[in-house]
Amino acid sequence: MKRRVFLAGAAALAASGWVQPGVAKSEARARVVIVGAGAAGLSVASRVARQMPNATITIFDARRDHYFQPGWTLVGAGWWKPGQTVESNQRYIPSGVQWVQQNVIEFDPDANRVTDASGQKHSYDWLFVTTGLSLDYDQIEGMSADLIGLKGIASVYASPQAALASSRVIDEYIDKGGVALFGRPATDMKCAGAPLKMTFITEDKARRAGRHTACKIKYAAHNQGIFAVPVVNTRVTEMFAQRNIDIYYNHVIKAIDPDARKATYQTPDGLVTLDYDMIHVVPPMSAPPSVRNSPLPWQTGPMAAGGWIEVDRYTMRSPRFPNVFAIGDVAGVPKGKTAASVKFQVPVAVDHMIAAANGLDSPRRYNGYTSCPMVTGLGRAMLIEFDYEDNLVPSFPFIDPLKELWISWFIEEKALLGTYRAMLRGYA
Ligand SMILES: Cc1cc2nc3c(=O)[nH]c(=O)nc-3n(C[C@H](O)[C@H](O)[C@H](O)COP(=O)(O)OP(=O)(O)OC[C@H]3O[C@@H](n4cnc5c(N)ncnc54)[C@H](O)[C@@H]3O)c2cc1C
Repeated sequence: MKRRVFLAGAAALAASGWVQPGVAKSEARARVVIVGAGAAGLSVASRVARQMPNATITIFDARRDHYFQPGWTLVGAGWWKPGQTVESNQRYIPSGVQWVQQNVIEFDPDANRVTDASGQKHSYDWLFVTTGLSLDYDQIEGMSADLIGLKGIASVYASPQAALASSRVIDEYIDKGGVALFGRPATDMKCAGAPLKMTFITEDKARRAGRHTACKIKYAAHNQGIFAVPVVNTRVTEMFAQRNIDIYYNHVIKAIDPDARKATYQTPDGLVTLDYDMIHVVPPMSAPPSVRNSPLPWQTGPMAAGGWIEVDRYTMRSPRFPNVFAIGDVAGVPKGKTAASVKFQVPVAVDHMIAAANGLDSPRRYNGYTSCPMVTGLGRAMLIEFDYEDNLVPSFPFIDPLKELWISWFIEEKALLGTYRAMLRGYA
C-alpha cells in the first residue's frame, strides 16, 4: 500500500512540473535580505543559496515554528492533529544563510535598508519581502482571536491551536444542532477556498453523524458570488443547493455579539443581524503594519487600502524599487494568495533577480496560478487551479477540476505536505 501511495504521489508530482527547468546562476557577491521565513521566504532562501552561491543571505523572522497552514482545515475537521502542521524553521534554512530571529519593523527602500526589532539596521543589494499577511480579527466589532473555541466561535485561520479548538466547536454544534454561519471577508484573503471547505466539511460531518436535519448551515458571501472563478462559482453554488446550504449574498460581517450569539452584516439594504449557534469567522486581512507603513505598497488602486506591496504581476518585482521583490500573501497581485502560488512565484522572482545581477533580463513569467484543493467531505475534493484570466489550468489531465474525486482528496491529504516541503527546500 505504501509503495502504491508513493508511486501515485511521485506520478502526481512529476505531472505537475515539480522539477523546474534549468535555472540561471550568478557568481555575484550580493547581499540578499529576505523578510519572513514562511512558505515564500524559505523557498527563496533555498533557491538563492543554490543559484547565487557567493551571496550573503540573511533571513528575518521572530517566529521559530514553521506552520503548514493548508493543514489547518484538516485540523479543523478533526482529521489531523495540530502537530502535523508545525515544524521548525531551522530545519529548512540552508547552511550559510543567517537567520536573524527578529522581525523587521521598518523598510527603507530608498536607502536599501531594513531595521529589525532590536533597532539594528541591515543594508541589502536585493530585498525579498515575504511577510505573509495580518489577520485583522479586531476589525469585526466584538471579535478577538481569544474567543476562538468559546461560545460557538470557530476560526481555523489563526493557528494550529485555533484550528483544534474550532474542530471541538464544530463537533459540539453537530451534537446540539441549530444554525451555523460561515462566510468570508470583503478584503483580499489567503486561500479563499478555505471558508468553503469548512462549510462543506461541517455539512459532511453532520450528515455522517445523522444530524443534518438538525443542523442548518448558512453561508454569507461578501458579494454576488461564492467563488471568484465563474465556472467554479456555478458548480459550488449547485453543490450548496444540493446540500441544503443557504447562501446570503452581499453580506459582509461587521460585528458579533458572542454572548447573544448574533452576527451583524453590512448589506446593500443596511445592517442585518443573523442568529447563530455556531459561527466560523474568517477575519479581514491586510499587509502587516511594518509593510503597510512603508513606501512599498500600492499608492493608488484597489490594492492600496490593504497595504499590499506594489509589484509587477508577472515578475513579482517592484516597479518603483527594482531591487525589491514581494512574494506570497503580501504581494499586491490580483490572485495568488496560496502556497501553491508561491511555488510558481518564487522561481520567477529569483530568476529575475539573478538575471538582473548578471546584467540580463529573464523571460520567465508568473501567470497568476492559484490552487486550492476544495475538500468537500471525508475522502472527496475538487482540485481547482486557475490563473489571472480565470482559466482553469489543471496540472493533471486525468483529473476533472469540477468533480469531487478521491485522487484530489489524496493530493490534499497526502501529497501536498511533501510537495510543500520540497518547495521550502527550493526543489519545487
Ligand atoms: C486555513 C488555511 C488554509 C489554507 N489552505 C491552503 C491550501 O489548501 N493550498 C494552498 O496552496 N494554500 C493554502 N493556504 C494559504 C497558504 O498557507 C499561504 O498562502 C502561504 O503560507 C503564504 O506564504 P507566505 O510565505 O506568503 O506567508 P506565511 O507562510 O504566512 O509566512 C509569513 C512569515 O513571515 C513572518 N513575518 C511576518 N511579519 C514579519 C516581519 N515584519 N519581519 C519578519 N518576519 C515576518 C511570519 O512570522 C511568517 O513566518 C491556507 C491558509 C490557511 C490559513
